[in-house]
Amino acid sequence: MTFSLRPTYDDPTVQALVERLRDYLEGELADHERELGLEHTSTLDRATLQQVWLRSRELGFYGIHLPPELGGEGLSWTALAALKEEIGASGRVLATSVLGDMGGPLRVGSLFDVATPEQVEEFLLPVVHGHRACCFSITEDDAGSDVRRMTTTATPAPGGYRLTGRKVFSTGGTFADFAVVVARMAGEQEAYSAFLVDLDAPGVRVVPGRLPLTGQNVESDVVLDDCFVPALNLLGAEGEGLRIALGRITANRLLHCPTALGGARRALEIALRHAAARPVSGGLLLEKQAVQHTLADMATELFAARSMTYAALADLDAGARPRMESFMCKLYVGETAFAIADRSLQLLGKAGMVQGTEIEHLWHALRMFRVLTGPSEIQRNGIVRDLVGAVL
Ligand SMILES: Cc1cc2nc3c(=O)[nH]c(=O)nc-3n(C[C@H](O)[C@H](O)[C@H](O)COP(=O)(O)OP(=O)(O)OC[C@H]3O[C@@H](n4cnc5c(N)ncnc54)[C@H](O)[C@@H]3O)c2cc1C
Repeated sequence: MTFSLRPTYDDPTVQALVERLRDYLEGELADHERELGLEHTSTLDRATLQQVWLRSRELGFYGIHLPPELGGEGLSWTALAALKEEIGASGRVLATSVLGDMGGPLRVGSLFDVATPEQVEEFLLPVVHGHRACCFSITEDDAGSDVRRMTTTATPAPGGYRLTGRKVFSTGGTFADFAVVVARMAGEQEAYSAFLVDLDAPGVRVVPGRLPLTGQNVESDVVLDDCFVPALNLLGAEGEGLRIALGRITANRLLHCPTALGGARRALEIALRHAAARPVSGGLLLEKQAVQHTLADMATELFAARSMTYAALADLDAGARPRMESFMCKLYVGETAFAIADRSLQLLGKAGMVQGTEIEHLWHALRMFRVLTGPSEIQRNGIVRDLVGAVL
């Protein structure tokens, strides 16, 4: 693997896909966002997002990772990661709608393995086609890393279940049609089930959630008040909810990394361009050795983080299950990407200390990545568990 701010790929199919995606992100999508005057903190309504889902589907990007029978190209994990890296590096406001990271096909892909034919027809295929969107509702105020502390309860009732509880930080709840809700089975200590819950069903309220650091208005709380969910909407078997909702966890953990790598790549490029143009005493910022060394360190750390991620993804493609490596990647990529963004901000000086800039958005997004989808400490717990397990 070589290092580049605009990576190339040996596989000609992947290279062609990456170039096609870059063209869309830098051309048509950038123009569209300019016309709409979009910023990262803009409130994105459903119609604006759906336009991108449908256009991306036309262009073949929406659901591209899925098998051909579902309209995709059955991409390898590595090829999908290469596309996700471009999404992260693009700086586009609507980027997460292009492959369907937020509420789209990337969210529901693993559910095809457990859904019934009726659930596929009613819930999953409409997501793949860009007609419906979903959110995942697992976290609660008192149940985050330790998700087993959840108190949302599913009580069996004639023909289905009654759900009661409050989910927080359901990303995409602002525009989703249904949620994958995980609830504790009433009277059970360790049995959790997953349900497909229509968000306009009686007994469900979607209320504005807390505004995250990025200022993106996409978080919701999902409040369930004795909400009836038909038995047909139970995903998989009773008691399998956590396994289902957390899905292909090793693959998913690894797949979060390329977006952060893309963001770090962009932060490095912003710093480089700034340093090359910024006059300071005796010349340009880029001519100062301290600045050169900072940039060299940023690039080296990015290369290391990227190399380990693609090495683990290659193992996954080869049929292995790089579990400990996926913890390591999420940990190292998260910490490194944020450190790169932070140094970029420092090199920008006052230009980095203002709101509404691309680097400000990246800095906030990469800061959140150290907590989202499993904080760094939880990754360390996983690494040490596997390490100790290997010798004891
Ligand atoms: C912007 C955003 C979007 C999100 N989207 C979703 C979503 O779509 N669906 C959803 O269900 N959830 C979502 N979440 C929730 C997210 O998954 C949780 O925030 C995450 O799992 C951590 O849980 P917590 O915030 O409750 O932190 P806690 O579990 O309270 O942990 C806080 C801190 O304590 C430390 N810590 C915790 N446990 C341990 C331990 N065992 N050992 C060592 N240190 C520990 C870590 O430093 C951790 O960061 C989202 C969160 C945010 C901020």
